[in-house]
Amino acid sequence: MKDLKDLLRPNIAVLSPYTSARDEYKGKEAHVFLDANENPFNQPLNRYPDPEQAELKLKLQAIKGVAPQSIFFGNGSDECIDLMFRMFCRPGIDNAVAIEPTYGMYGVTAAINDVEYRRVLLDDDFQPDADKLLAAIDSNTKLVFFCSPNNPSGNDIDHSVIDRVLDSFDGIVVIDEAYIDFTEMPSYTTKLSQYPGLVVLQTFSKAWGMAGIRLGLAFASPEIISVMNSVKYPYNVNVLTQRKALEEVEQAERVEVWVRDIVAERKRIMPIVAAMPFCQRVFKSDANFFLARFDDARALYDYLSECGIIVRNRSKIALCGNTLRITIGTRQENDELIDCMSRFK
Ligand SMILES: *Cc1c(COP(=O)(O)O)cnc(C)c1O
Repeated sequence: MKDLKDLLRPNIAVLSPYTSARDEYKGKEAHVFLDANENPFNQPLNRYPDPEQAELKLKLQAIKGVAPQSIFFGNGSDECIDLMFRMFCRPGIDNAVAIEPTYGMYGVTAAINDVEYRRVLLDDDFQPDADKLLAAIDSNTKLVFFCSPNNPSGNDIDHSVIDRVLDSFDGIVVIDEAYIDFTEMPSYTTKLSQYPGLVVLQTFSKAWGMAGIRLGLAFASPEIISVMNSVKYPYNVNVLTQRKALEEVEQAERVEVWVRDIVAERKRIMPIVAAMPFCQRVFKSDANFFLARFDDARALYDYLSECGIIVRNRSKIALCGNTLRITIGTRQENDELIDCMSRFK
């Protein structure tokens, strides 16, 4: 990787961040807080949250095996994605490279930040070609995005391709692992010390079942995490979210049960859908959803919505003509889906 100072936008490299009242206070014994103009009534909501989420990071270290200095919490992964563009990409000058199709937020966030976004088409099995990715990179490329397992295709991205980009690209490689709990493949968090430009994103929104509390994670070198901390809003993760996440992390064993159930359901219903006469193909899934191609995706989508079942029509996305993306629900919900689908003509 290039020197971090040379990769960062010049204004970010010299930024002196806002220091909040709770940043300055490092003592242990204080019990009278008159430093932040808070209201002394209405405990505990009256207090600003811990800007560093220290307690939560310690809990996560135990689960993920990553040191607190290498962990960042965001208001959803979407905040982490936005931070990547704001930290590294000079608007109108720098660019980002990503596989296509993939999660739509990378492209939208690039556009919001006025950053060129280069889409490198996957093959028909939704796998990337390392040479094509490397050819899209130039001296103004700051970020390369992978998403594995990939959304909307559902499959793991070939690790040998990711490794080749990690070995040859001198910028930041972001690997979005929102669906990591549903795959057999290992997380890239184990390679953080090997690759200083690696940023791994995970989230509480999927396997952890907490999309509502908005909590995303980034794992990276302590140097990158430190810059993320100085660019984020000081109190980006609110008190309620931190408290709830701490509670839920105590019951991490539930997540394993959910994941096992969801994966078993995925394996049960994919062949049923594949066997329907109007289904052309179901694509390999390593996630909690699958993509399937139908004779007429739009008609099926409309029919399902008449049954009160909402799926995602991905037909307008590159390589995804006539496809629907279907999330795995409870056994009962999946049965309802199959029941409705089997009556479609
Ligand atoms: C669902 C999803 C996320 C999660 O985003 P949050 O903002 O954390 O809810 C991130 N990346 C991908 C690819 C996703 O599909």
